[in-house]
Amino acid sequence: MRVTTAFSRLLRLGKGVLVKKVRFEPDRVVVEVALRRRRLLCPECGYSTRARKDTRPGCSVWRHLDLGVWRLEIHCHRRRLWCPLHGARTEGVPFARPRSEFTRDFECLVAWLATRTDKTTITRVLRVDWYTVGRIIKRVCDDELDPDRLGGLFEIGIDEVSWKKQHNYLTLIADHQRRCVVWGCEGKGETAADAFFEALDPEPVAPSPPPACQPPEPAIMVPFGPCATVPAGHGIPGAWLQDGSELDPHLLARASRLHAIAMDMTGGYAKSVRHYAPQAIICIDPYHVVQLANQALDEVRRAYWNELRSLGEKDAANRFKGARWSLLKRPEKLTDKQAATLARIRTAGGEVWRAYTLKEAVRGIFEHGLSLEDVTILIDRLLSRIARSRLEPFVRLGKTIRKHRDGILAAIRLGINQGRTEALNNKVRLITRRAYGFHSAKAALALILLTCGPITLHLPHELHALGLA
Ligand SMILES: [Zn+2]
Repeated sequence: MRVTTAFSRLLRLGKGVLVKKVRFEPDRVVVEVALRRRRLLCPECGYSTRARKDTRPGCSVWRHLDLGVWRLEIHCHRRRLWCPLHGARTEGVPFARPRSEFTRDFECLVAWLATRTDKTTITRVLRVDWYTVGRIIKRVCDDELDPDRLGGLFEIGIDEVSWKKQHNYLTLIADHQRRCVVWGCEGKGETAADAFFEALDPEPVAPSPPPACQPPEPAIMVPFGPCATVPAGHGIPGAWLQDGSELDPHLLARASRLHAIAMDMTGGYAKSVRHYAPQAIICIDPYHVVQLANQALDEVRRAYWNELRSLGEKDAANRFKGARWSLLKRPEKLTDKQAATLARIRTAGGEVWRAYTLKEAVRGIFEHGLSLEDVTILIDRLLSRIARSRLEPFVRLGKTIRKHRDGILAAIRLGINQGRTEALNNKVRLITRRAYGFHSAKAALALILLTCGPITLHLPHELHALGLA
């Protein structure tokens, strides 16, 4: 078998790609290929033509999957064409995405690994830097994400996650029924929610004015009989819209199908929801209520710890520093050591222990198996208990819960439970930390969507086996 034939089989670059020459250099294998097809394809829109504008000076280079320990490069001289839509473009190749310096197989391996493992592993195994990984992920995400994913949304959650530094936020929309993140953008609050609703129901493109010729004769199609159409003035009058009037866009808006929207208690999102989807029920996600209770408890603990330190009780202060997780974790998930610490805090009593019992009481509201009536009673009992607690952070929490009582009860009524959001949230937070090294928020978003979105990523060999490559 000739070397070129062997490489053609090995690399599987797609139909119409001819391996012309294989060259070994000190640190890489270079495979020169040519496109056998006659027609030139616009890489952006698939427009094809036989007319060639010219040949691109110099050859294009793509990195392919390594061959053993060798880096492997594909080189190709490409022609250029004139696309009526995009102008002058270098012709597309079947094995790589437009404007990429990597083959699809390589990019698909990068994306798969990025959703599963850490930065150091990827950059070392694949010998690419992290910024490049960010760019690849962005491309794969744009390519793989289903444009119709915002179609069947009925129950969603809207939440933000901080990215890179504090005060840098990404807002994410989760589809509660499919349990995945379907949309995201930079920023948070009302503007971010507005951007989502605009993406959900984009402004229709203004139709081009009708050509100034004779208006068509209105006619009604008849599904039977020898005569296919009925001339104007005969048959049943059609229900035409008056000239200049149009269907109420709200009837067709996807936002109008949203039934429930879960969010936190900060309020920015609610304003936007009331404007764009007034029919949707605003629910307060139990996850956020418990999170606030945890924050209040942490505030009490820190204040107590600072007090101890200022009194010079260093040992006791150090004991409390380690107690943080014993207090914040669910009691059933404590290690033996943490449980012992918690028992000590209990014996000591005082503000920290009282704050802990209040936090557990908040969590208790959202236990499985409680009816709406149970929860209503529990919330009201909790609110009066909190009001009497004399713990400032909890008194504030009580006021917030009172303000959002209806939203919290709506979440219980609709069966929005804490665990569901928590699981997705933890996954998103983990991925966001991995994305810190990317320099654009778009790359971070792409990683979140690839990992938690409605996408199934495959490895190169799986794609080829499924016939998708
Ligand atoms: Zn084009």
